[in-house]
Amino acid sequence: PSAMREVFLETPKVYWGDIGGQEHVKAKLKESVEWPLLHPEAFRRLGVKPPRGILLYGPPGCSKTLIAKALATEGGLNFIAVKGPEVFNKYVGESEKAIREVFRKARAAAPSIVFLDEIDALAPARGSEESGGSTGDRVLMSLLTEMDGIEELNGVVVLAATNRPDVIDTALMRPGRLDRILYVSPPNPQARADIFRLNFKKMAVHEEVNSEELAEMTEGCSGAEIASICQDAALSAMNEDMNTPSVGKAHFIEAARTVRRRITKEVIEGY
Ligand code: ATP
Repeated sequence: PSAMREVFLETPKVYWGDIGGQEHVKAKLKESVEWPLLHPEAFRRLGVKPPRGILLYGPPGCSKTLIAKALATEGGLNFIAVKGPEVFNKYVGESEKAIREVFRKARAAAPSIVFLDEIDALAPARGSEESGGSTGDRVLMSLLTEMDGIEELNGVVVLAATNRPDVIDTALMRPGRLDRILYVSPPNPQARADIFRLNFKKMAVHEEVNSEELAEMTEGCSGAEIASICQDAALSAMNEDMNTPSVGKAHFIEAARTVRRRITKEVIEGY
């Protein structure tokens, strides 16, 4: 089997406006990725070093992947995405080959973003429970080598994402590697209302449905859970009447009441 199968070159069409909340993260990414590409002379003149790599961390379903895609779309960057667990496969030497291939593609496609999702699977701390022993160490070393290799290259930015920042080897966070670290939080009430409204744009919703009210009811929900509430509400509306012109308030309220929340208090306190 080829190690290259896990490498995707795609053009995601996600815009900043598709993402509710996360204003701070959006602003930081514009400043550290878009600005250096658009205004390299200003960075040189003022002696500002743009980051080579950025780590996004936070609970699941809170838009890390969306943010990476929007950054690529809005910045006009090619997007090369891999998932840690898929690269970390069992064939000896295959993982290192896959990592080299990802960075080779990124250099060829510059300006580009390398998106390393679930990086904890690829770079667990050496000697930790999660590390795969010497295989894991070799995979980590080849990742570090590739990251250091892009230092002198312009136009390749590494974006990594994880739900578990605590298990990543700290060598990855040294200067010149993933040296900008951004927390992608669960949405606040305002952002939750925005996420409901973004979902409503894609469906027929009865006029009495109130996004603010639903935002109040969904304290602690991720964006992914809000999207699933909307799907559930639409399905139960269909169940009731296949010819219904729109999804009603009662369907949303019931779906919001019964949604399973993955982000517990303990999860949040862990960050
Ligand atoms: P994971 O850690 O599980 O990979 P993630 O943080 O990368 O999750 P995404 O994959 O970006 O999360 O989000 C999953 C889905 O949830 C999105 O495709 C979108 O439908 C919805 N979603 C999450 N956050 C938002 C948001 N802020 N605005 C709009 N939609 C959102």
